[in-house]
Amino acid sequence: MTFKEIGLDERILEAISYMGFEKASLIQEKAIPEILKGRDLIACAQTGTGKTAAFMLPLLHKMAVEPHNGTSTLVIVPTRELAVQIEQQVQGFAYFVPVSSIAIYGGGSGNEWEVQRKGLESHADIIVATPGKLISHINMGNVKFDKIKYLILDEADRMLDMGFYDDIKKIIESLPKTRQTLMFSATMPSKMRELAKQNLVNPFEVTIELSKPSAGVLQAAYLVNDGHKAQLINDLIKDKPNFESIIVFSSTKRSVNDVVRSLSGKGYKVEGISSDLEQKEREEVLNRFRSRQTRVIVATDVLARGIDIKDIDLVINYNVPGDAEDYVHRVGRTGRAEATGVAITLVNAEEMIKFADIEKLIGATISKINLPEHIGISPEWHPVRSKRTFGAKPFKGKSNNFKGKPKKKI
Ligand code: ADP
Ligand code: MG
Repeated sequence: MTFKEIGLDERILEAISYMGFEKASLIQEKAIPEILKGRDLIACAQTGTGKTAAFMLPLLHKMAVEPHNGTSTLVIVPTRELAVQIEQQVQGFAYFVPVSSIAIYGGGSGNEWEVQRKGLESHADIIVATPGKLISHINMGNVKFDKIKYLILDEADRMLDMGFYDDIKKIIESLPKTRQTLMFSATMPSKMRELAKQNLVNPFEVTIELSKPSAGVLQAAYLVNDGHKAQLINDLIKDKPNFESIIVFSSTKRSVNDVVRSLSGKGYKVEGISSDLEQKEREEVLNRFRSRQTRVIVATDVLARGIDIKDIDLVINYNVPGDAEDYVHRVGRTGRAEATGVAITLVNAEEMIKFADIEKLIGATISKINLPEHIGISPEWHPVRSKRTFGAKPFKGKSNNFKGKPKKKI
């Protein structure tokens, strides 16, 4: 379906065509008409399916055709990076309509606080904010929410996972009761259902099935003990100039540092990204990677969701992701569109059972490769629940990892 068929305002169509969008994605096709009708909505679709445009385009359409003054739209997102990314997208979509927007996030200098405060004072039409910083501004009396008509919770599962449940509830309490509420997420944990039940009215629900990694992606798994992983990564990228952009995902900060140290010791342009870095530094690392000044980034899970990076040639999972769906999200960073890519997962003996769960989810067997002899001996493929993994949460099809964990800094 085209955006014209959906019935969006001409000025928005023009902006969309400048951005090179030709057809609506599936989530956009399903969600936009319902949002235009004014219905509350819960939408589940994996990363990269175009959720931002799915909520922003119909809301911008409404703002373009209805009179508006004052802040009508509040988008709440989990991280600063997403706030910035979404606000930039809004500026693109809203290029030909008189709509203003501002991003509110933490981690910046005192100067930024002042810029944000002034922006709020000007009653921008759209606020894109992280929960913590927004609450600070609410507490300081900097925001005026009496004109809010649209509330969007983006990456809702991630926000709950990060412990923002109470903050979100508090923010919602400060909003007018009559409004349209939209929830977007990659998964649907039970805590999210609860939040939806309390705050949405008769929501339209749309779920887009998780799509399997595209056929252009070559997937493989190395069976390897932890002690050999860093060396294996070096081996994998050695003499492979075709891999221009490489992401290594790792579950711990420590292994991020290990891999960065090992690869930079070999002369590669490599940077790590973890909670050790300030938000601003993380953005700079990402920008250097996007502009190909940095060849390899090594990241903790911060990067796995939400952030839009295209054209990765090689994804390496240093550990098997805890959530089978995370595997699909990560591997989805390579081989987008018609491009081809390679995704390699390093699997130790304890992780084999988790890896077998992933194979079940994607409905395919991924070839297992033994270590080259000069590195060492591989553990044998034997995916059974050992003592150490016994009792670990089996994969149940949806991530449901909200356990009331404290807010974690990512
Ligand atoms: P999600 O929130 O689902 O992870 P995004 O909204 O960040 O996805 O979109 C992912 C990428 O796809 C962005 O680069 C966006 O510009 C692009 N995109 C979104 N919708 C379309 C479309 N209809 N046609 C082409 N590209 C699109
Ligand atoms: Mg998104």
